[in-house]
Amino acid sequence: MTETVDAPSATRIPHWIGGHRVEGGSGLSGPVYNPATGRQTGAVDFATAEEVDAAVQAARAAFPAWRETSLAKRAELFFGIRELLHARREEAAEILTREHGKVLSDALGEVTRGLEVVEHCCGIPTLIKGEHSEQASTGLDVYSIRQPLGVVAGVTPFNFPAMVPMWMWAPAIACGNCFVLKPSEKDPSASLWVAELLKEAGLPDGVFNVVMGDRVAVDALLEHPDVAAISFVGSTPIARYVYERATASGKRCQALGGAKNHMIVLPDADVNAAADAAISAGYGSAGERCMAVSMVVAVGDVAQPLVDAIRDRIPKVKVGDGMDPSSEMGPLVTAEHRDKVASYVESAPGEGATVVVDGREGVPEEGFFLNPSLLDDVTPEMKAYVDEIFGPVLGVTRVATYEEAVRLVNESPYGNGVAIFTRDGGAARQFQFDVQAGMVGINVPIPVPVAYYSFGGWKSSLFGDRHVYGPEAIDFYTRGKVVTSRWPDPATSKIDLGFPQTR
Ligand code: NAD
Repeated sequence: MTETVDAPSATRIPHWIGGHRVEGGSGLSGPVYNPATGRQTGAVDFATAEEVDAAVQAARAAFPAWRETSLAKRAELFFGIRELLHARREEAAEILTREHGKVLSDALGEVTRGLEVVEHCCGIPTLIKGEHSEQASTGLDVYSIRQPLGVVAGVTPFNFPAMVPMWMWAPAIACGNCFVLKPSEKDPSASLWVAELLKEAGLPDGVFNVVMGDRVAVDALLEHPDVAAISFVGSTPIARYVYERATASGKRCQALGGAKNHMIVLPDADVNAAADAAISAGYGSAGERCMAVSMVVAVGDVAQPLVDAIRDRIPKVKVGDGMDPSSEMGPLVTAEHRDKVASYVESAPGEGATVVVDGREGVPEEGFFLNPSLLDDVTPEMKAYVDEIFGPVLGVTRVATYEEAVRLVNESPYGNGVAIFTRDGGAARQFQFDVQAGMVGINVPIPVPVAYYSFGGWKSSLFGDRHVYGPEAIDFYTRGKVVTSRWPDPATSKIDLGFPQTR
């Protein structure tokens, strides 16, 4: 919701247009908090449609020269960006911790995984290569080239304020496009920090722009005739909305949505390893990851020992301010979100689930903290099963067979990540064949693909037909062109009105 913020000590967070900070003129802004203290630290400007247009026009003006910049120079620039980002990654991590709340080690992990995408883009001369067929017909050659789209935009969520934008701007810019980013209004400072770093690395003004704001800014991008493509990552209802509006306006769109990731534990699995994985993937980043494990599906008699092992580990998770190096789990992003997550623990017993560990107990008064919760006997009709909770609440569903477990995953409207824990290679191979999800982990709880594969889910976890980063990003941010070429010998020229045949 748009609101006017009047907190004198809050730092103003402006837009970045044409290579400069530009203060918004709408008079509207949103509060940015340090979730560990609960205090407002910033006020982020909310863009009007005119301000979005200014960013798009800056990108449009920069496009002809950027498009002509050789692949060699683009690669050199990306190596420079990589060096700067790597050297200053700890600075970036601190910004993330202060606005998102995730602990420093996790924030550093986010920056590092984003950096891998930048590193992959250093290979743009190879990635964007076309194909060539000499003598496809007599005296005739055919080759394909990939060209940038023009101005492309990205709209990103709060939970990865550095990495998810990098999934978009790095390949988009490497391919020769100019980019307008609309980051989450909850933790926008990382985008401004990146904008300044890109300028320092030598990226020409206007190639990368940031408009801060809410749905007004997003709608302006969706409607803008000079925006050729939109990449979106966020919740499923907004992803669906963005996809429908963008494609109705004739834009290319990839819109990644929410998730409800299952971790299946077969009876032969190592219970301790599975419990460690459930704790790490369920409570890391306070469960605010689209690849977080949210439901553990325990098959057969592994259920009780597994629930016991998870329960025993929970008190050892150190919850605290992310800036404290000993903290393993930080607060949630806002008080409102913390309360919503807590409501699932509140309503669980009424629906028939068992609250094994109640994370509402023992939380500090300051900040948006919630401790890890564990729910057992969760069944598919319950709210805690159906909804993407996006917080430190792990549910356990008990089933009798492998088939029942796979059916649960395949009947879920989401299909982002999924994992199986087993010692049986045959079962794991069958699972990879059976399961309807975009990213599968075999004894790996958070199977985020490396940068040279692509990231994306199935079903309501992705609208569009291209995943982000990796090879599919090169396809998404370019258009193919096929050239059929003949250098005729004037002596052999003749008229032929028939449809061209290859001979
Ligand atoms: P969100 O959908 O609330 O917001 C995402 C972006 O959309 C933000 O920039 C926000 O300003 C904008 N937005 C919000 N409401 C809008 C509206 N009505 N119209 C237009 N734009 C709007 O998501 P969030 O809470 O920031 O992030 C958490 C969600 O993102 C979770 O559902 C999570 O699963 C998902 N996510 C998915 C992936 C993935 O790869 N599939 C990755 C990260 C996060």
